[in-house]
Amino acid sequence: MRLLHSGLWLLALLPFSASADIRYRVTPLPKERVINVDMALDVAKAMQEFRIPAWCPGFYFIQHYQDKISGISAMSEAGAKLTISRTDTRGWLVSNPTGGGLTVHYTVQGDDPGLGFFGVNVRSDKAFVNGAAALMYLPDRMSEKSTLSAILPAGWKVASPLDQQEAGPLIADGYDELIDSPLQLGAFAKKDFKVGEIPFQAIYVSADNRFQTDLDEETNRLSEISGTEIALFGSAPFKRYTYFIHLSVGDFEGGLEHRASTVLAIPNSETLAVDDLAAHEFFHAWNVKQIRPKVLGPFDYSKQDRTRNLWFAEGVTDYYSKLLTYRSGLSDEGWLFTEFAKQVDQLQASHTRDSKTADQASWECWENGGFGVGDLSYYVKGFLIGLLLDAEMRTVTHGKKSLDDVMRYLYSKYHLPEPGYEENGILDALNQVSGTNLTPLYNLLARSTEEMPYEIMKKIGLRLRPKAEGDPETIGSYVVERDPDATTQAQQLLEQYLAKP
Ligand SMILES: [Zn+2]
Repeated sequence: MRLLHSGLWLLALLPFSASADIRYRVTPLPKERVINVDMALDVAKAMQEFRIPAWCPGFYFIQHYQDKISGISAMSEAGAKLTISRTDTRGWLVSNPTGGGLTVHYTVQGDDPGLGFFGVNVRSDKAFVNGAAALMYLPDRMSEKSTLSAILPAGWKVASPLDQQEAGPLIADGYDELIDSPLQLGAFAKKDFKVGEIPFQAIYVSADNRFQTDLDEETNRLSEISGTEIALFGSAPFKRYTYFIHLSVGDFEGGLEHRASTVLAIPNSETLAVDDLAAHEFFHAWNVKQIRPKVLGPFDYSKQDRTRNLWFAEGVTDYYSKLLTYRSGLSDEGWLFTEFAKQVDQLQASHTRDSKTADQASWECWENGGFGVGDLSYYVKGFLIGLLLDAEMRTVTHGKKSLDDVMRYLYSKYHLPEPGYEENGILDALNQVSGTNLTPLYNLLARSTEEMPYEIMKKIGLRLRPKAEGDPETIGSYVVERDPDATTQAQQLLEQYLAKP
């Protein structure tokens, strides 16, 4: 066994400390496929509640992490066993009559599919911990600093986006950051790169430690995307960033954004083809982790945190994932237009779009699988709303402003620790930045079930048309292309739109 950090855990030997930090220690047991978690407090209430989250930021769907937790016990700093009762399915109440420090111990099953995604995965030579699944919180001490250490088998490595004192524990500035910082332990391949002065790491994990792809080439592509996105915003909201790339798919193929990292779960193939997936998750470092509806940070982990703006958080992020992959030079104009057409295909094929708005699809997603309502995806409709708003912004400002300016405005106004935006915040920003009243268009796009005004695309020289005879078999029902009848102004706006930085 190898100890990543030990000092703070010799609790009984240390004099009482006035520090109110919360200290977590994770011990993976590969044979048992579990992790043990110890959570130590220097001070605690006489009746101290511990809770496990009902959901994981980034996936707007209730989880049942409590089902994977067993063997919970608690001990006072004097070594006395403390009584525990349940407050509800996700809460435990420790009776701590002296009110001094205490340690809670429990076990979390490590059977999350694939290499781990929403939960905990423990294998013979590696483990993955998604914080929300494993680390409990104290409802009355959410903003307290916490530390995280691990006791590991010999040779196991550690990757985390968190700060670390030299040879000390990982440090999180509150519970939101702690659980939004996944922990990769054991065997993995690591590639480092920098964008400007900011260090990045790409952590590649495979079940058998073999990699079908060229990791250097894939890492170069991540570097291109990262640079393009930081340039768009002008600065980054993190000190370092980690791409965790799990080359195995469990019950979910795709990515999940975290505050200063992302986990991508994809097959272990020769070409990973993750450019736009990585671009999407990385864009979330701004749009949703900083630019966020008020309810999405600080979070209430005890229940659904509803907002009508997930179409902006997810769909507009997806629009940018394609646009920025193109701007990074990793894909060409034809690819970009095809991606636009695919979204139109999907939205027009939806029946639910006639009865639910993008706002409603966001609000009601919790009961409907976390991606929208019925066959209306807020990713898809939000993508197209982003495209049309971008086109309109460029038109009404004669090319002086675009959706990029709205993103920068939102970032400057709502970055942490500032509170997130009110439910009307996106509309207010659009009106503010454009200097025009975009409310009627916004209401049509986000708050009505009216047909999407695709003709707005013509204003920036793009044409949407149904597939016709002579078009390649491979394309769907729609084609997006340069408008052959574009006005001079529209042509100029298109050149500006397609210009690479
Ligand atoms: Zn997303």
